[in-house]
Amino acid sequence: MAPENTKENRAERIKREKDGLDVWADIERYAETGFQAIDPDDLDRFKWYGLYTQRPAEEGFFMLRIRIPNGVLSSEQLETIGWLSRVYARSTGDITTRQCIQLHYVRIQDVPVIVRELGKVGLTTQETCGDVVRNVVGSPLAGIEAEELIDALPIVEEVSRLFLNDYAFSNLPRKFKISISGSSRPQEQHQINDIGLVATVSERGETGFDLWVGGGLGAVPHLGKRLNVFVRPQEVSEVITRVVEIFRDHGNRDNRKKARMKFLVAAWGVERFRAELEARLGRRLTESGEVETADASPSRWLGVGLQKNTDADGNPLYYLGLTVLRGRISGEQMVSVAGLARFYASGRIRLTNTQNLIVPDVPERFIETLSRELAALDLRLESSPFRQGTVACTGRQFCKLAVVETKDRAAEIVRYLEGAIPDFRDDIRISVTGCVNSCAQYQIADIGLVGVKGQENGEEVDYFQIHLGGQLGRNARFGRKLSKRVRVEEAKYYIERLIHVYRAQRLSERERFSDFIARHELRELETLDEQLASALELEEVLR
Ligand code: SF4
Repeated sequence: MAPENTKENRAERIKREKDGLDVWADIERYAETGFQAIDPDDLDRFKWYGLYTQRPAEEGFFMLRIRIPNGVLSSEQLETIGWLSRVYARSTGDITTRQCIQLHYVRIQDVPVIVRELGKVGLTTQETCGDVVRNVVGSPLAGIEAEELIDALPIVEEVSRLFLNDYAFSNLPRKFKISISGSSRPQEQHQINDIGLVATVSERGETGFDLWVGGGLGAVPHLGKRLNVFVRPQEVSEVITRVVEIFRDHGNRDNRKKARMKFLVAAWGVERFRAELEARLGRRLTESGEVETADASPSRWLGVGLQKNTDADGNPLYYLGLTVLRGRISGEQMVSVAGLARFYASGRIRLTNTQNLIVPDVPERFIETLSRELAALDLRLESSPFRQGTVACTGRQFCKLAVVETKDRAAEIVRYLEGAIPDFRDDIRISVTGCVNSCAQYQIADIGLVGVKGQENGEEVDYFQIHLGGQLGRNARFGRKLSKRVRVEEAKYYIERLIHVYRAQRLSERERFSDFIARHELRELETLDEQLASALELEEVLR
């Protein structure tokens, strides 16, 4: 019920009149009657089954998002997604920053069959969009990382099942994001999710999780707050449920721009939030040990890595972390990777939140052959830092909110920089984002490019607004927004200039790009790229 004296907004009315979960019967009906027959309110409820209308709106196509907890897939599942993409989605596929896969060009007529086929291999599109608990993310090396504190994969899977198809949680004030990591070197996700659980060891030597709440990006980013609460693995489901209930019951339903849990946490503060959580649990929570967060690095999961588990004979197993150029993967690539993973390894695949892909469980004798075959699919074991660290959102090709095109632009930027600065080897995160909503997480990138419109000589022009120096991890901070904007086609030259200046002016070879940016005032950053001439001269001298 809407509180008295407030006008109920459209999203709240739609959810009150019919639960998003109840729209499935209508989707099946619309599959018969066609796109034109769809009620606009139902179109909004379609999000509960992973469907968003895409550009161009009049053509009646949808984006369909598939739920992949922790980004872990079997060969059979990836193969199925690949085949469905080929048959029903023009072979499209995008790996998202929440370890999901999105298809495009999906027609309403085909949705029931796609969802049925996905269901046969244990996949669903349910609650990947809408005001619900979204795909639960975690370390892509869960269960195989050599030094992890907890294998959190079973916990992620349990939490993922907890809220699915449950009417008690299908009408939250807004979307809700959860991250659970058992890694010994947690980097980032707990800082930007509504709930972040990150592995720690208590003073008594118990292994469990440190609880963070209220992180989130979007147009108004907030870093998560540490509640200083120790959560034992067996308590995770209960604690998370109580936190989601707090959000459900106290989140802002009047103003969607203030509805995410980050605003509730900011308004209440950590003490009140913790007190409410303890009241709902009916017990005091013990304090947790401080977690040592590592520096976020896009290359962390890439290349060849030794796993903690071995094969049945005790031989070592390795994971291959591969770059997927700005997260775009075709149906053919999906089917091929699935086949290779089955033939050379255990038939498992993992997706990273940096839009890349991992094939685990590879015996040593197959590493070379498998990498060669994957490279032939343009999935590279060794690649430039630009390819490793560039993420892009959907952008204007399909997204109705986008201001500029992103996926092709990101690919162009990567290829240009690879040719222009072939010897650059440092980690760098570049985000190419189509609007301020931050699906490509520009606030946490070293270089965040955000699409904006402008005018030149009376003509509309596409620009990128520049944000510099964002990072998660030990010294988490959001990128600073410059007043500077560049035309979208000139972004690659801007980044090239910036990198030359960085290389010439860094304090030492060990100074990272993010630290270099951090020690400059905002006014210095505005003109940093203009020092290119002197930077090139210096590079010449140093050579
Ligand atoms: Fe669309 Fe904006 Fe999200 Fe990009 S950031 S996918 S343009 S809403």
